[in-house]
Amino acid sequence: MNKTKAYSASSATSPLALDAIQRRDPTERDVQIEILYCGICHSDLHTVRNEWNSVMPTTYPCVPGHEIVGRVTKVGHDVTGFKPGDLVGVGCLVDSDPSCPHCQANVEQFCPDATFTYNSPDKHLGGVTYGGYSESIVVDEKFVLRVPTNLELAGVAPLLCAGITTYSPMRRWGAIKGKKVGVVGLGGLGHMGVKFARAFGAHVVVFTTSPGKKEDALRLGAHEVIISTNAEEMQKHAGSFDYILDTIAADHDINAYIHMLGLDGNITLVGAPEKPLAVSAFALLFGRKSLSGSLIGGIEETQEMLDFCGEHHITADVEVIPIQKINEAYERLVKSDVKYRFSIDMASLKAE
Ligand code: NAP
Ligand code: ZN
Repeated sequence: MNKTKAYSASSATSPLALDAIQRRDPTERDVQIEILYCGICHSDLHTVRNEWNSVMPTTYPCVPGHEIVGRVTKVGHDVTGFKPGDLVGVGCLVDSDPSCPHCQANVEQFCPDATFTYNSPDKHLGGVTYGGYSESIVVDEKFVLRVPTNLELAGVAPLLCAGITTYSPMRRWGAIKGKKVGVVGLGGLGHMGVKFARAFGAHVVVFTTSPGKKEDALRLGAHEVIISTNAEEMQKHAGSFDYILDTIAADHDINAYIHMLGLDGNITLVGAPEKPLAVSAFALLFGRKSLSGSLIGGIEETQEMLDFCGEHHITADVEVIPIQKINEAYERLVKSDVKYRFSIDMASLKAE
């Protein structure tokens, strides 16, 4: 076992602070990774503060982080896909039951026995898994991704969650040329959604509550921006969308966005607010509209997304921070004050 420095929260109300955790010695199938950057996902904050208590209660201490890029330092005997020195990524999943039908269909995220990168029962060491706010991690090679070498690493880390979470539903629902696609909320997920929808050829419209993000939305690839608090602007676009991706992390009126969809339009929820949303049946009935959900993506599709990003030079827009600024970063995340993802430079943890 290896002792590793990490930042953990000891309760729902404690700040994150320096801690020491254990990582297993790599087994035959494992890859040991020195973590270089880790993105900060709003899910980290929901988990640290136990906001998903009713569905996935948090076990403390909690070490979040599932947007990991790093360098391989050691591999087990049976590992064939990676060698020391390789640049790799780890997202939200670190293990699953390969015999399950979902795993066989390459959607490991729906495996009943999936192990998530943090706050999941740890099959090797007992207790729960610890995520990427740490110096190193040991992961089964099946859950390790190859990272394109032409991209800037701090901006690659967020692809491992924010990237795949927006890429997957947009691919599934056909956010393509000729379609009018809305992205609700310009945060970590939202700004990646804009980049992908644009790269797929769709007509992209951002809904934001922050007028100050308008110029950025256009720069990121949106064709149009709607300030969602302006009823008149909203009304102009009513009934006109083929597809909408809703990334809002807090309570909001989803009916306002269902109203934006045209006949047979779909809105996918990827945002995971703490409390249930009230959905108007009539908003869905008139226009045969549908409401769907989506959870990250499988490993094969995550690799496809990374390769796509390599080919199209897509990374997240990041604000790189030292880990010592993590609690400040969380406060800013709650205020939607991040452009557009925090990425932690893990050299700062080594230095502590
Ligand atoms: P984020 O960076 O905080 O972005 C969320 C954005 O939503 C904000 O930037 C803001 O955009 C908008 N927003 C926030 N509060 C709002 C409110 N009260 N009313 C209206 N709009 C509001 O968060 P994120 O990391 O992108 O994550 C977004 C959500 O997705 C979280 O709930 C997270 O847990 C979830 N998530 C789900 C998956 C999945 O697999 N389904 C994966 C990762 C994350 P504007 O300023 O533009 O309005
Ligand atoms: Zn995430």
